[in-house]
Parts: sequence; structure tokens; C-alpha cells
Amino acid sequence: MTTSQPPHMIDPGGDPTPVIISPESLRLQAIDDAPPTVPYKVVLPGVMQAPAEALISAARKSSLWPMTFGLACCAIEMIATYMANHDLDRFGIVPWPSPRQSDVMIVAGTVTKKMAPAVKLLYEQMPHPKWVISMGACATNGGPYTQYDRVVQGVDNIVPVDVYVPGCPPRPEALIDGLLALQEKIVEERARGY
Ligand code: SF4
Repeated sequence: MTTSQPPHMIDPGGDPTPVIISPESLRLQAIDDAPPTVPYKVVLPGVMQAPAEALISAARKSSLWPMTFGLACCAIEMIATYMANHDLDRFGIVPWPSPRQSDVMIVAGTVTKKMAPAVKLLYEQMPHPKWVISMGACATNGGPYTQYDRVVQGVDNIVPVDVYVPGCPPRPEALIDGLLALQEKIVEERARGY
């Protein structure tokens, strides 16, 4: 561009014919997209395509319904986790008072041998797919009651456990961390075809 020309005129490579760029030509122009090659783009333009596995796992992990039942002092922390200041709804986690529609069992407290059949029955009443969180030392390995014959030394003796949350009792933040770990596990499970 020569200094004698106005800013909207360009003289590329010494071409004697200057190229004039008008302000109108600098505005964004609509782009003609390539014609759709698959039928669904014709019927539903703008729709994104994603693997079914990704959508199913996203739906599963984002709509967990933990069953509301507690066994001992850890249950108080579980109840606190469900309160408004922790806002579990933002993760799609909604406590549910029936095993028939729940897909997560949080074993919160000491599992006595007297209570173990009821815990197992509740687990069996939940529909598939379902997951179990062992909350606290008692549910994980008996906790302070390792010498007590009447306490089950780990709830994994009666139901399969997916996530262990340590503590006596674990704080609500620890349980939320366990729930997020379960969500990651659900996505990985689905990616492997479970
Ligand atoms: S782990 Fe501790 S807080 Fe939880 S039920 Fe056992 S004794 Fe109570």
C-alpha cells in the first residue's frame, strides 16, 4: 500500500490496478454449507451426532437416585449431604425413599448381623443397573467394632460395593467425593460395554 492512497485501497505487488475494499465487503457473510450427505441432516439440520454409549452413560451418571436409609451415626452425615447447602441436585443426584426406583444404595453405618438380611433384601429390590457406596469405617470393615461378633466385618460380605468412602464419620464433602467417583466409574463401565 502506498502512503498516498487512502486506507481502503490496496496495491498488491505493484499491480497498476488497485484493489478497492469497500466497508460493506468486510462484514461477515453467510457461508454456504456443503449439502448434507446423510439423511438425518436433511430432516434435522443442526443436530449433532454422538455415540449411543456416551449418551447412555451421561444419562445414567446424571440421574442417580440414592435410596434413603441409614444404619447408624454415618446416616446423620448422609442426611446432611442431602440438605440444601450441599445442593446435590446440581449433579443430578436426588434421594429417593423406595428401593423400587433407586439405583444407588449408600450403606451409612454399622451393619449388624441382625440387620444384614434387610440390607440384602433392599439391594435385591433395586432394579438394574445399581451401585453401592460403603460410607464410613463401620460399613467398610467393621470400623470400631472389629472385635464384635454381632457386626458384619464389611458390607461387601453381603452386597457388591463400588465405592468406599473413608472416615468415622465421613463429612458430607467426602460423600460427595464418593458420589462423583461413582459417576466416573459409571462412565468407564459403559465405555467397556457393561
Ligand atoms: S463409621 Fe463411625 S460414625 Fe460411621 S457408623 Fe461407624 S462409628 Fe458411627
